[in-house]
Amino acid sequence: MTRAEYADVWGTRTIADELHAVALAHPDRDAVVAAQGRRTYAALDAETDRIAVGLADLGLAPGDPVIVQVTNRLETVVAWYALLKAGLVPVATLAAHRGHEIAHISRAVGARAHLVEAGTRGIDLVAFAHEQAAGHPTLRHVLVLDDLPAAELDPDEARKRVEEIQRGIDPDDVAVFQLSGGTTGVPKLIPRRHAEYWYNARAYADVLGWSADDRVGHLIPVIHNAGVVCGVHASHAVGACLVLTDHDLDTAMPLLVAERTTSVLFGHVHYRAPEHPLYDELATTLRVVLLSGAKVSEELFAATGRGGAWVGQLFGMAEGMFLVTPRGTSAELRRTTVGVPISPRDEVRVLVPGSEEEVADGDVGELCCRGPYTLRGYFGVDRPEAFTADGAYRTGDLAAVRVLDGHRAISIEGRIKDLINRGGEKINAEEVELLLLAHPHVVEAALVAMPDPRLGERGCAYLATDGTPVTLEDLRAHLGALDVAKFKWPERVELVEALPRTKVGKLDKKAMTAEITEKLRSGR
Ligand code: AMP
Repeated sequence: MTRAEYADVWGTRTIADELHAVALAHPDRDAVVAAQGRRTYAALDAETDRIAVGLADLGLAPGDPVIVQVTNRLETVVAWYALLKAGLVPVATLAAHRGHEIAHISRAVGARAHLVEAGTRGIDLVAFAHEQAAGHPTLRHVLVLDDLPAAELDPDEARKRVEEIQRGIDPDDVAVFQLSGGTTGVPKLIPRRHAEYWYNARAYADVLGWSADDRVGHLIPVIHNAGVVCGVHASHAVGACLVLTDHDLDTAMPLLVAERTTSVLFGHVHYRAPEHPLYDELATTLRVVLLSGAKVSEELFAATGRGGAWVGQLFGMAEGMFLVTPRGTSAELRRTTVGVPISPRDEVRVLVPGSEEEVADGDVGELCCRGPYTLRGYFGVDRPEAFTADGAYRTGDLAAVRVLDGHRAISIEGRIKDLINRGGEKINAEEVELLLLAHPHVVEAALVAMPDPRLGERGCAYLATDGTPVTLEDLRAHLGALDVAKFKWPERVELVEALPRTKVGKLDKKAMTAEITEKLRSGR
């Protein structure tokens, strides 16, 4: 992905400069609304200038990575742009991550600062950040969301300082590190660059037909790739307003209704939104709804669109590639596929896994893609097996091309990569298996997906032990002691004599998944 290849679609500004340009165009419109308050574009621009200078005055320098562990709040959006304006590089981790994840990621990336939120439920993230900084080779600053340093400068002076910083940044420099759902034991970092990352969002807003009049609801973690692209950047790329809520429908719905939300993205955990008592009221203002993360039934399309909104599907990934249902297409295309790439420069191929050979249309193979916002390599690791000879990314997702309504639309048919998609959070099976094997009585371990009506999937551990039974409680204590994020903890244990294997001796995860699915179905 280089400017020479994609100069026709990429912009020429940094993300901070893009925000400033849109703030000049729409100063008095709302840029963001959340339970904590609202900011117009002018106010957001001025406030983030002053915080950016405050961050620079702490000694943080352009290019310094900053671990970000915060939730969906107004101040998160303020902090996001302030970091970018200071030239800092946010590392998009989750508030749910713990020492096991943060220690690794922050060292891998050479983080200089750690931004956390005070008062989160269940853990004191401020104390956690201080613990993480102790003995850390590069981490020097703990930043707290409600207490970021804002320089006492007049707005023009602050603007000049930010412009000076931004002049030193190339639009093709790394802007953000996103985390990959990943296929190996160690989480991988995805470098996202200013121009391509903003283009990703702009292209998404454009295919949805958003304008400055739109008010875009977002309920899933905003510092995920989907949050940054679909929520923050895409709204702001067109001067629209981001209506940012937490994930709980009971607190989200009143805000979405009050703010006359026109567009919203529902992940699998929110597929029950149309059953909410306030949905009919929300539906009176909704124009465009996206559903993402799992297959969508005709009933769900009908329920979601009952107020007249257009409802489509989205497939997206932190590595880049976005597919969206095209407007004006048949019910069949909309229901059976996740649509088509959002950029005319995207290239999609479905290959026999591990090969360069394309499968016939309609046949299932590995979704591979290349284009103006899809990565060409992970940060700091060489993984040639993740790319084709000409640089297309092998997604690990199984897909087929369906030729419908004159489109080459893509249907998602499963995945090769060994992960569990727990309500949108990806759990890397190998990473958890290695941790389970560290338990003194566990001899063999496999983590497989078990179906869950709300989250889509949850993790089930198949274990063979040395004869001492290991319970779910034992595993929780073990993973808690290793400071592993809770969403990765198995939620059921199946003890077996030996794990099932295929004829060639590989773990037979299909057999385990089928068995646990059947057990759950029959209520065992
Ligand atoms: P992430 O990088 O966390 O956004 O996760 C990307 C992965 O989520 C993809 O590689 C897919 O495995 C899965 N995914 C995203 N969108 C969809 C969808 N609409 N249907 C099925 N799986 C999806």
